[in-house]
Amino acid sequence: MDRFPVFLDLHNRQCLVVGGGKVAERKVDSLLKAGAVVTLIAPDITTEMGIITSGQNVQHHARPFVDGDIDGQFLVIAATNNPSVNAHIASLADALNMPVNVVDDASVGNFIIPSVVDRSPVTIAISTGGASPVLARQLRMKLETMIPPQCGELAGITEEYRDIVKKHLPEAQRKTFWEQALKGPFAELVYAGHVEDARRLLDEMLASYPNGQTMGEVYLVGAGPGDPDLLTFKALRLMQQADVMVYDRLVSKSILDMANQRAERIYVGKEKASHAVPQDQINDLLVKLAKQGKRVLRLKGGDPFIFGRGGEEIETLAENGVPFQVVPGITAASGCSSYAGIPLTHRDYAQSCTFATGHLKDGSIDLNWAQLSQPNQTVVFYMGLTGIEVISQQLQAFGRSGDTPAALVEQGTTRNQRVHIGTIATLPQLVKDSGVRAPTLTIVGEVVQLHSKLHWYEPQRHVIASEFSLDHPVAPVEV
Ligand code: SAH
Repeated sequence: MDRFPVFLDLHNRQCLVVGGGKVAERKVDSLLKAGAVVTLIAPDITTEMGIITSGQNVQHHARPFVDGDIDGQFLVIAATNNPSVNAHIASLADALNMPVNVVDDASVGNFIIPSVVDRSPVTIAISTGGASPVLARQLRMKLETMIPPQCGELAGITEEYRDIVKKHLPEAQRKTFWEQALKGPFAELVYAGHVEDARRLLDEMLASYPNGQTMGEVYLVGAGPGDPDLLTFKALRLMQQADVMVYDRLVSKSILDMANQRAERIYVGKEKASHAVPQDQINDLLVKLAKQGKRVLRLKGGDPFIFGRGGEEIETLAENGVPFQVVPGITAASGCSSYAGIPLTHRDYAQSCTFATGHLKDGSIDLNWAQLSQPNQTVVFYMGLTGIEVISQQLQAFGRSGDTPAALVEQGTTRNQRVHIGTIATLPQLVKDSGVRAPTLTIVGEVVQLHSKLHWYEPQRHVIASEFSLDHPVAPVEV
């Protein structure tokens, strides 16, 4: 190890910063956040630095550095834009065995300042030993996305309970207790901002440990339309820690690959005619699994609250006192329209947008056709393939022109995405000619004409296998 990492306690310590530019500004700011008392030496300073130095615990001397400035300092940062001044400050401080940093030059001075992920009291410092500050920043960004913002709060509550746990549990059990708590519903409750519930749960866990059965939790998570890059950070985190995963046909294979490989997987996929698992059984299954103390990931395509029956599932959970969280996902309309270059609204063409279901009930679609046929709007039909004849006829019957552009977006956002453009009148023929398969989204409205200009996503269709657990070679099958 080339450098020895330490975390310094700077509370009420004298620290010197020389230089008044942008870099110095950030250093003064972090020193003050760490509780230091800062002396700033710089003939000129930035406006922001002026604001920072108008506060407490910082004194600015508007003049060049003189050797005596380092007397009595605990730590020194040389941040002028003159390398020889910086080197001079470094040699003076080093001769006095004082920690000294020269910004942007790790070869001078005796310490470097790491990139920091701050979730105080959790602090992560990253250094490449000065080899690549850009790499350090990139690594920091990765960690920023992986570590929930409330991680510091979690550490705080854990600290509060340390002595209590010590009193309740023998030493041999403490470590496993904390391991379970910190990767389970307790941590998730803190991340979701339910701090009081989290405390209550920890109390319960402690009272019944190690034999007791505490209630699990259900995460109703939207997985987005297919591209794994469109998952939310929260969805990914929950996917990786769930004990059991309950999913259906609209969750793409690439996304399933990213879930915890050790999690039990239960497929409850639905087909139009034969429901693999009826909805009420899915609802009951979720309750049963949570009551076994499991963290249950209910993964759904798109957004769970848009044609996803997510509401029904959590109603049952609520009735049974099972805690749950809902994580929104990018719905197919958003994902498919973006990846097809079809803005859903546009100043010139559409001032509103409606999401409708094209699902057939007894051979007809129960929708307000008069409203859907109004001009200057975009209508997006989910599950519209089998009812495409009805959609085409009804929109025209209620006055929308047969020439209105319409698009079919098949397996949107995936490597297999295909976009087929036609009009309201030609939609049924388009479905037949293109051999389009579910899942497919139908977009109707003037905005569709923008596709020819704005299309940007051209997947290389190396992959013929569907991204979804659907395999219907001829007739389009709805999901
Ligand atoms: N909850 C989901 C929608 C479920 S309804 C969401 O918010 O997206 C199922 C319908 O969504 C399918 O019939 C299809 O019309 C549409 N759909 C879902 N994913 C799709 C995709 N990747 N490409 C095209 N359509 C999709």
